[in-house]
Amino acid sequence: MKYAQIVVFRKLGAFDSELTYKTIQSCQIGSFVEVPFMNHFLKGVVVGLTDTLSPELSDEKIKPVHQVLAIPPLGGQSVQLARFIAAYYQTSVTRAFRLFLPAALWKGKLAPPVRMLYRIKEDSPDLRGEKQKQTFEAVRQSQPADPENLKLMDGFSAASLKTLLKKGVIEETAESLYPFFDPKAFDFKSFSKTLTADQEEVLQKIREADRPVLLHGITSSGKTEIYLREIIRTVQAGKQAILLVPEIALTPQTVCYFKDFLNDRIAVFHSKLSDGERLKEWWKVKTGYAPLVIGSRSAVFAPVSNLGLVILDEEHEWTYKQESTPYYQTQRVAEEMGKLWGATLIFGSATPSAESYYKAETGGYVYLTLKERIHQEELPAIHLVDLRDEFKKRNFSVFSLMLQQKIKERLENKEQVILFVNQRGLASAVVCRDCGYTELCPHCDIALKLHRNSKVSHVSCLVARELTRPETRDTLVCHYCNYSKAPELVCPECRSPYIKHVGVGTQRVEEEVKRLFPQARVVRADRDTTQGKAGFDPIYHDFRDGCYDILIGTQMIAKGLDFSNVSLIGIVLADIGLHRPDFRSSERLFQVLTQVAGRCGRRGKRGEVVLQTYNPDHPTLKKAASHDYTDFIEEELKQRKSLGYPPFNRMVKFTVTGQDETKLSARIQQEQEVLEDIFKLNKLDVKIVSAPALLPKMANRYYYHVLLRAENPTIVFDHWKPPKGWRIDVDPVHTT
Ligand code: ADP
Ligand code: ZN
Ligand code: ZN
Repeated sequence: MKYAQIVVFRKLGAFDSELTYKTIQSCQIGSFVEVPFMNHFLKGVVVGLTDTLSPELSDEKIKPVHQVLAIPPLGGQSVQLARFIAAYYQTSVTRAFRLFLPAALWKGKLAPPVRMLYRIKEDSPDLRGEKQKQTFEAVRQSQPADPENLKLMDGFSAASLKTLLKKGVIEETAESLYPFFDPKAFDFKSFSKTLTADQEEVLQKIREADRPVLLHGITSSGKTEIYLREIIRTVQAGKQAILLVPEIALTPQTVCYFKDFLNDRIAVFHSKLSDGERLKEWWKVKTGYAPLVIGSRSAVFAPVSNLGLVILDEEHEWTYKQESTPYYQTQRVAEEMGKLWGATLIFGSATPSAESYYKAETGGYVYLTLKERIHQEELPAIHLVDLRDEFKKRNFSVFSLMLQQKIKERLENKEQVILFVNQRGLASAVVCRDCGYTELCPHCDIALKLHRNSKVSHVSCLVARELTRPETRDTLVCHYCNYSKAPELVCPECRSPYIKHVGVGTQRVEEEVKRLFPQARVVRADRDTTQGKAGFDPIYHDFRDGCYDILIGTQMIAKGLDFSNVSLIGIVLADIGLHRPDFRSSERLFQVLTQVAGRCGRRGKRGEVVLQTYNPDHPTLKKAASHDYTDFIEEELKQRKSLGYPPFNRMVKFTVTGQDETKLSARIQQEQEVLEDIFKLNKLDVKIVSAPALLPKMANRYYYHVLLRAENPTIVFDHWKPPKGWRIDVDPVHTT
């Protein structure tokens, strides 16, 4: 091939297309190269080879590649995957490629990590002086000697070492810091657990599957043990495995579990690594030192060469979607990897996403289930507490009388309690305290969001004396269709004046615990207390080790963590989740409740969950309380179908921003009209809506969303180019 398309490593900007150079010998797809650019050299990677030039280029003007760097090329599959991401998520190959390379590498740090080793070359050389003799002796005794050890040896001198190297008495060789993993030479430990019959069966079916597997197993049903078996099998076959977990909080305990079997032959990726650390982990994979990769979503781009297995644990989690360009969805990327490498794919969850469940139902995935908990423990009993009754009893605490009583019992029995505070979409819905009535959009069936224009922007609590009437300037807005109305001053259902937005924060809950149970040891895990580099880790360990009686936390405590002494979970206000202005709010709430409930009553104790709500009759809450996933999801899919939401249609979301709200909305209106004409002209069945974003104003900029909904909405890109500055999110997870 004559020409190479090259992604050049430099700051991403407006101009980020690939560049064309003439190939030189040994230039292949995935090669790391150095190319002339303006009057200096830049590094890059070859992403395409052709014999023909695109018409706007002329052969004389094309410069040759300067040199191919002595680094093993990236696999052709990785390059194809980057191309897929660029095409599917409407971004450039360069931006897609950026996902595959750590920042430090992008900045030019391309040398593979090595360590120097020293050996004696001449047995009885002519040495001068005591220092040289001692240094020679030090190397002789520990050869091949590495500098770290040498430094510790008596009489060793770095200067003499240099002299001896120059004389040719000692030789120096560079050796990879990360030697290749050889499964034949590795001492694999035998498994300590005997699989249950159910686990055996699932494992067998995974091995027979010709499609991705959706493993639907309730919490504590032994999914992780299945992952372990399949990972070890993959590694033993000389292939690589990637295990993805939704959040950094989960990484330490998962890594511990697998370290037991693979020691340090594991590369770990998560968002809190420094650039240097990330580069090291990248090399562990690139060199073949670590056959197992564990991490949050970015780990899916580890530089594997012979991929055999990809597992997404808790596959329904929203953190698998990247919320910046390119807005990729890890599931979608993994599916493509499965095809490119012929790798096995396992999507595991106790509450599979509606999309995955639907795919399994329609034959895209093999559907496997684990219905029993390993130790046959019962799932926790979930008590729905009607907060409207508490309100009538004039109990204005954030805790119902039942929850207070149960916390008291647990503290007496020295058992632990988790209080869960759902904070997403805090204080956005308007709910009647007396009857639970919620204001919904008449067109979209989605909770309307309160937009406050008054100065009182802090989050209210449940205390009645703080209840005030909504300000007349406040408006309720639908974030799908921009419908808006003034909030009701009295409830249309029951005429109660206590119709107000709801919300409780973690700090407020902590204060209340301290007031009611001053003797309890309390710790709070939320964004404020887990910001440091260690994240949730220290709190997790302290709580597990019994340093605290009560853990108050947000979403981050809802996932795969295993606390054996927790026998009570309080869900302070379930309604918050119910009223996110998004068509996925019910699904999300069901998932969170199931996950939270799964955190208690492990190992012999039946747990209890107290779920507080103003809507005890809501079908989602009822089904969560009776642990009925299938019932819930079938109903949910029926609704989605009738309203045309995913998975029955797909969406594309554009985010548009501007400093002048009037101009911004006019511009969007104009573009919307252009699009509607295009749809009409080309007979495209696409729905389009625009509305202010959920957080319509940040840092003095206004944010709007334009949503396309159709069976295949990306078809519009064949007819239309989004205006500059419109950010494109294909298959958005957050639609408002
Ligand atoms: P999940 O990932 O489905 O929540 P885990 O794999 O963590 O479930 O299993 C729950 C608990 O049961 C863990 O403590 C695990 O070590 C244990 N376990 C799993 N499989 C077995 C088995 N076959 N025999 C005994 N204990 C098991
Ligand atoms: Zn009411
Ligand atoms: Zn609407």
